[in-house]
Amino acid sequence: MTGKLPLRLTNIASRSTGRSLSCLALAATATGTGTRSIATTASSMRLRPSTLISKQSALLPRPTLLQHSFRRSFADQAPKVELSPTPKPKKRFRFFRLIWRITYLSSAAFVGWIGWSIWQLRNPAEQFEPDPNKKTLVVLGTGWGSVSLLKNLDTENYNVIVVSPRNFFLFTPLLPSCTTGTIEHRSIMEPIRNILRHKKATVKFYEAACTKIDYEKKVIYAQDDSDVKGDSMETEIPFDMLVVGVGAENATFGIPGVREHACFLKEVGDAQRIRKQIMDCVETATFKDQSPEEIKRLLHMVVVGGGPTGVEFAGELQDFFQEDLLKWVPQIKDDFHVTLVEALPNVLPMFSKQLIEYTESSFKEEHIEIRTKTMVKNVTDKYIEAEVNNPDGTKTVEKIPYGLLVWATGNALRPVVKDLMSQIPAQAKARRGLEVNEYLVVNGAQDIWAVGDCAVANYAPTAQVAAQEGAFLARLFNTMAKTDAYETELKELSAKQSTANPDDRKVILAEITERQKQLRRVKQIGPFQYSHQGSLAYIGAEKAVADVSWFSGNIASGGTMTYLFWKSAYLSMCFSTRNRVLVMFDWVKAKFFGRDVSRE
Ligand code: FAD
Ligand code: NAD
Repeated sequence: MTGKLPLRLTNIASRSTGRSLSCLALAATATGTGTRSIATTASSMRLRPSTLISKQSALLPRPTLLQHSFRRSFADQAPKVELSPTPKPKKRFRFFRLIWRITYLSSAAFVGWIGWSIWQLRNPAEQFEPDPNKKTLVVLGTGWGSVSLLKNLDTENYNVIVVSPRNFFLFTPLLPSCTTGTIEHRSIMEPIRNILRHKKATVKFYEAACTKIDYEKKVIYAQDDSDVKGDSMETEIPFDMLVVGVGAENATFGIPGVREHACFLKEVGDAQRIRKQIMDCVETATFKDQSPEEIKRLLHMVVVGGGPTGVEFAGELQDFFQEDLLKWVPQIKDDFHVTLVEALPNVLPMFSKQLIEYTESSFKEEHIEIRTKTMVKNVTDKYIEAEVNNPDGTKTVEKIPYGLLVWATGNALRPVVKDLMSQIPAQAKARRGLEVNEYLVVNGAQDIWAVGDCAVANYAPTAQVAAQEGAFLARLFNTMAKTDAYETELKELSAKQSTANPDDRKVILAEITERQKQLRRVKQIGPFQYSHQGSLAYIGAEKAVADVSWFSGNIASGGTMTYLFWKSAYLSMCFSTRNRVLVMFDWVKAKFFGRDVSRE
């Protein structure tokens, strides 16, 4: 009987008469189910009595329902209708319900945040032209140092001009992953136009290389090196302030044959070239009638330099072989071989001893050969010549044949930096880059600052240092602009004060005191201080090593958990939400479908 009640309830209610609920009460009493049946049915319908009444009252004239029908028929004739409350969910279900709510609310918030970031990225606000009377700030480069500066700079304070042969920012920590197709190169590139278009005031960008800096004339010379040429290919750009953030080029130490035969790993083009050459070596090695020696040579992948670049690349390459190449080209199983050549007694010299040992043992397990105390002296198109320091103290020269040679032996000065150093007497003794003071001002020059790999400030040439230097300069320049504004205002106020009447003078004096206080506060910017967050490196086979700063100490860790940390750290450091999403997709794609083994 109770099963029928909902239907009757609905029918009665829909008649819209004052008798509807009295009928309901009668019907319930008549069925003999009484109060319980109504309560049970109501709760089975997920309708509480109050809901019933409010639904009814939406359909009926309220006074009729409340005063006559309900009170007289329902409340009086069936006086003891006690509607039991909805049973409380059991405690354990309450917990799961809470977890579920938190999960979907946070997922919704995450999706909302992604959506908002994408919308913001795609819809930059209108920009205004900065005042032409403001100082011209020229920024060279679009790498870690310069982009960090541009990101944090209030561009409305200066006429900013950016000059770089690369019209994008490159997230270098994930570049080794591009050599094997784990990550697509466009996923770690952020167009400089996107970055600049989001600034409040317009910033000019010229895709060109600076060929010379004339620090006395305060002018730079820029050359358009792109394939498409216009009328103007060379120009000069005057500056009031200059930031040099041109990075470094690959060190070859003048070793013959390196530039001609080796691949570097610094730019997107380098990663693309390596990716192509790996597959070229594999396909050529499997060509008909290839001799066994030639197959061995072609499949010998040699990496020179046991710094983080060399180690990360060797790890990525071995992963590619184990996870993909072996599956699709099984015939190379016994011949594909990765060797890491290092002049020093161990790899990764900047990491702690235990992590060096961990990396070396992990490489052994992965079948990556490490040749330490081996210094390359000469490079030909098919082999390298290396001087090996033997355990007995003797030295021998060995020829090591290779199919692919990747050269990762660190940084060297760019010609434009060398040229600037040669113009400044205070830089005569500098060897590794532009020597700067604690405010990153180039020693011996005025209004020229240097950041990143081209500057020598007693820190390692890393992205971390460059980014912090760039952010510091932005703070400094923002402060300088404020200082200029306060000083101008102070001059105006003191001129006003001298001609003002005594009452106005009091007000002006109070204003002057306030401005002076503000001026003192903004002038209190301290020198640049680097805060080391730690070092991270991927070593292959889903393992990473990390030396992370923790309070005043250091935590050294290695393994799969560190690899997950490495992944999340680099994901969070990607330049934009777009980069983050693309990198995530690439990782998922490589996991599910494997890496692409096509040559291009
Ligand atoms: P860059 O980022 O190299 O930028 C230099 C800019 O100057 C570029 O835009 C370039 O096009 C431009 N330029 C060049 N010549 C001229 C010219 N003549 N005129 C105008 N512009 C010019 N560091 C870390 O801390 N963690 C890591 O995990 C890490 N991984 C790395 C992985 C690889 C494969 C490599 C190569 C480096 C890695 N580094 C890492 C080091 C880090 O990338 C550098 O320290 C950092 O890029 C230095 O920043 P920068 O701004 O000085 O120079
Ligand atoms: P590096 O300077 O760190 O290491 C180069 C290595 O090459 C040295 O160990 C050197 O002994 C060796 N070498 C030099 N000449 C040689 C020769 N002729 N034969 C054999 N070995 C030779 O260079 P890198 O790895 O390119 O790194 C450059 C900078 O970028 C460093 O400051 C590094 O810390 C930074 N970086 C950091 C990361 C990271 O944190 N994960 C990754 C890549 C690069």
